[in-house]
Amino acid sequence: MTHPVSPNTVLANALHHAEDVLTPRILATPPQRIVLVVGTQINGAPHIGTSLVQSLAFAMAARLRDRFGIPTEVLFSALDNAPYELTTDPVSGHRYQRAYAQALGHEALTDLVTALYQPLFTALSRHLGIPHRVETYSQQQAGEHFRRTWLRLLPRLDAARWWLAPSTGTPHVRVPCPQPGCGWAEKDAERTRVQLTDREAAQVAAVCLHHGPYQATIAPAEGAYLDLATLYRNLVKELALSNPHGTLHVMVKGGDWVFGSHLVDEALQAVGLIRGQLPARLFCPQVVTDTGAKLSKSLIREGRASLPEGAAGWMLDTRQWPGTVAEYAEQLLAMTDTLLSDPRHFFRSYSAAEIGRMMTAPAPRSVPAP
Ligand SMILES: [Zn+2]
Repeated sequence: MTHPVSPNTVLANALHHAEDVLTPRILATPPQRIVLVVGTQINGAPHIGTSLVQSLAFAMAARLRDRFGIPTEVLFSALDNAPYELTTDPVSGHRYQRAYAQALGHEALTDLVTALYQPLFTALSRHLGIPHRVETYSQQQAGEHFRRTWLRLLPRLDAARWWLAPSTGTPHVRVPCPQPGCGWAEKDAERTRVQLTDREAAQVAAVCLHHGPYQATIAPAEGAYLDLATLYRNLVKELALSNPHGTLHVMVKGGDWVFGSHLVDEALQAVGLIRGQLPARLFCPQVVTDTGAKLSKSLIREGRASLPEGAAGWMLDTRQWPGTVAEYAEQLLAMTDTLLSDPRHFFRSYSAAEIGRMMTAPAPRSVPAP
């Protein structure tokens, strides 16, 4: 594969290898284990940007393991709280959403994740010898530690709320209507009220567009489905990981998160974490169009953007890749080798055409077969 030509940057100039960006954290508190956490919204077929971040999480895990001799693994967080359908309440004018978790139910959702993501993860995992786990947001929010973390955060939320919602100061909690077969929730939580009833439980009052007012309890081991706005959810997730017992968690995200992550970092510190307790972050290259905007499947689907020149259909729906999943994984890993071969190639964005060129270049890999 012919390597891309990448300009020097301040960060690239400071590093010999892309993974060195994590070295200070690893040396400051040498962990016994490193977990690379990569989250993906479950909303239709994955696109190339998703596959790129996921394969880079595995490739980076392998590099960190080889470099520091520390066991590494990948945790895939399947965000099934992504909206499945949206509607507007004709009475209040408020927007309502029904998430994948409520619309599809547990079994169909498991089937969806198994069909769309598991084959690629299994291939990447085997190629690199990196173990991985898949966790849905439904499982995560049901976990006692996550719910306890949220309950303990509530009395301190005032300190963080403007970081989580800089325009309104109100970070949103969504508790879907519990009526059988319903599951709608106010998207912007206009009429949702949260009250801590004791140290171990909160009462949430909300209004369903079909069933009117309802109440739900959130307790550590039981109670309603707890959905939170993105930054708020990240705060709780990362707080829950901040007492790690020898584990370093690395949040692996697309480059577009650079602009939002500092709000989460400030929120974490506002509720009492010190810098050394914040999770490590790894921002991966973004796939962009000719205008420099993130390649967006939804914008193209809505007809508000066109497929950029040099991009192929499989980039928006990786199931259309003209080959097997094993071949797709091999091409992705060959590309991650290139991107990780020089910090200049890693800390930058790539046009869809350039990604297409690298993904279709003949690239025999020098890794041993599983
Ligand atoms: Zn309802």
